[in-house]
Amino acid sequence: MINILKKIGWFIKEEKKTYIFMFFLLLLISAISLAPAYVLGVAIDTIVSSSLNLKNFIWLLASLITLPLARYFMSFLYNHLITKEAQKLSFKLRYKYLDHLFKMDSKFYEKYTKGDLITRVTSDLEQLTVAATSLLEGIIFNIGVIVFAISVMSISISWKLTLISVSIMPIGLTILNIIRSNKRKYYKVHQEIYAAMTEKVIESVEGQKTIRAYTMEENDLVSQDKAIVNDIESWRYIVKFENWFNPLFEVIYGLAYVLAFAFGVYYIINQEITLGQLIIFVSYISMLYAPIISVSTMFQQINNATISATRIDEIMSYVPEVHDTKESKEILNFKTIEFKNVSFQYPFDTFSVLKDINFTIKAGQTIGIVGPTGAGKSTLIRQLLREFNVTKGDILIDNVSIEEFKIEDVHNLVGYVPQAHMLFKRSVDANILIGNPKASNKDLDRAVKIADFEKDLLYLHDGLSTLVEESGSSLSGGQKQRLSIARAIIRDPQILIMDDSLSAVDAKTEVNITNHLKTFRKGKTNIIVTHRFSAVYEADVIYVLENGTITQSGTHEQLLKEDGWYKRQYISQITIGSDK
Ligand code: ADP
Repeated sequence: MINILKKIGWFIKEEKKTYIFMFFLLLLISAISLAPAYVLGVAIDTIVSSSLNLKNFIWLLASLITLPLARYFMSFLYNHLITKEAQKLSFKLRYKYLDHLFKMDSKFYEKYTKGDLITRVTSDLEQLTVAATSLLEGIIFNIGVIVFAISVMSISISWKLTLISVSIMPIGLTILNIIRSNKRKYYKVHQEIYAAMTEKVIESVEGQKTIRAYTMEENDLVSQDKAIVNDIESWRYIVKFENWFNPLFEVIYGLAYVLAFAFGVYYIINQEITLGQLIIFVSYISMLYAPIISVSTMFQQINNATISATRIDEIMSYVPEVHDTKESKEILNFKTIEFKNVSFQYPFDTFSVLKDINFTIKAGQTIGIVGPTGAGKSTLIRQLLREFNVTKGDILIDNVSIEEFKIEDVHNLVGYVPQAHMLFKRSVDANILIGNPKASNKDLDRAVKIADFEKDLLYLHDGLSTLVEESGSSLSGGQKQRLSIARAIIRDPQILIMDDSLSAVDAKTEVNITNHLKTFRKGKTNIIVTHRFSAVYEADVIYVLENGTITQSGTHEQLLKEDGWYKRQYISQITIGSDK
């Protein structure tokens, strides 16, 4: 409970006035709910004592009509307010959560799966919102009704009768809640099973093309089945407790009724209470049923919400290894970037992918990085994206560690064209403008030209306004690459990194793009990771990376004079090329 209040205390503070208003509204509603039964009891006693006259009758009738009406309008107002507050809270929590996700580093995303992160922002967040809003009703209204009813029963009717009939309820509830506690403990496991099922569904939806191409539908459904059955069984286990709970509580409740009636009649005979009072008493017993069940469900919600709050908190309190500090410096430009004895190991790997790397990039240079697949080329160059901190050594920008600069500033230095293109279901130009939303039409045309994307526009039915389907499925591999290049170029970055970004374009397009880069990016730095030598012929320096180590460096001509991987590969590439 305290955990939940801690998580949403800021919201209640922000909405203080509305919450205070709703608090008094609920108190009023709970008091008014009990009034009609009381009026009825008084009416019966008035009739039995033969003191009913027209004036009394009209008053009683008017009260019986106006009280439920007043209750209806107040409940309507309360429901309207609480629904609005719930939506506001859910929106704000979701916003905070997503904002936090944007600040996380790659280690975080290696630790948590998509399914897990989605479950936390949907199901867990929902639990927290429901608890945050229904708790108010649960505590104020239900406890209000219970306290008001028991006060009237014990003070103005009979404390003995109240003690005999009502005290059985909390005793019964406590026993039942102890039985129920197993379910509470299990809820965390259930949320994890649910997250695993969500992850499986995402995987199948995302991989549907590959699954169909390899006719793996049945296999996929079998593994889907397992995840769904796990979830259903886990849910069944939870429901089993509920199925026991309500009937058992009804037995206890029935007993309270019998006791109230039997002793009530006895007290009437002894003239300790009137018939009207017994009717009020029995009516209040039946009115206690719903609030007591609600209060016990509320404990249930508090339990689920506490677990959900802990699950959300785990994410919200995660401090990424790559993060800014108050001392983080600004950087808008650079002269040199030096990799100094850099080694790197992925967080959940057992070996180093990069080993003792030393090299320097000067502003304005075009750098080529080549080497066998899996040598660590991408890993090396992605160090400039601040996804992880290096394991050993340092990367210095103008002799200052990259870790001392603001992450956003370092990101702004770089335009990165990844191997796997991330395209959004938006128009082509909107996809390019993600690189720089403030770019002008002139900038857009320039980026399209440099990326050699102009010719593609002729084939797209609406040119730049053509809608790109989800994940770019309506574009060819080459078009996706060129669109990605245009997106990076439109930011006119100090450093353009092309991570094997020309693999799907033909030789002519490759020449066009490299020529455009030479012309339009004079004075800027380009880093080209490739397995095709034609893309790096004219680079100022080419580094050969083998098994995580730089084994050769120099210009194309210099490297051809050395015996090594570069020359061997170059010869084999031209031989295969001329064979074709
Ligand atoms: P290249 O770009 O030269 O093909 P990569 O840098 O992509 O090589 O990969 C180098 C090594 O790092 C490979 O063994 C690969 O399996 C591993 N690797 C790449 N990304 C990750 C990751 N996110 N987590 C763990 N290992 C990774």
